[in-house]
Amino acid sequence: MKGFMNRNSSREGVYTDETVHHCTTCGRCWEITKLKSRSLTSGYFFYTDFPTYGKQKKTCGQCKGENLVLRKNTGMPFWEIQKS
Ligand SMILES: [Zn+2]
Repeated sequence: MKGFMNRNSSREGVYTDETVHHCTTCGRCWEITKLKSRSLTSGYFFYTDFPTYGKQKKTCGQCKGENLVLRKNTGMPFWEIQKS
């Protein structure tokens, strides 16, 4: 599922940070991902110390009021999206 990504032809190469967005509401960079080990659970990683230059500005799920639950079993905080 990469349909939400916008391809920018002016940038060369494929970097993982192409999927990292910058939320101007909370000022954090964030990335939506799926944890295969948790049966394709979707959620967010937030990066508070991350360069925002060139990142696509997009409001994160937390600022949009999505129902997120913090999981700390992945080495870094993972905010799991609750479906209900
Ligand atoms: Zn935010």
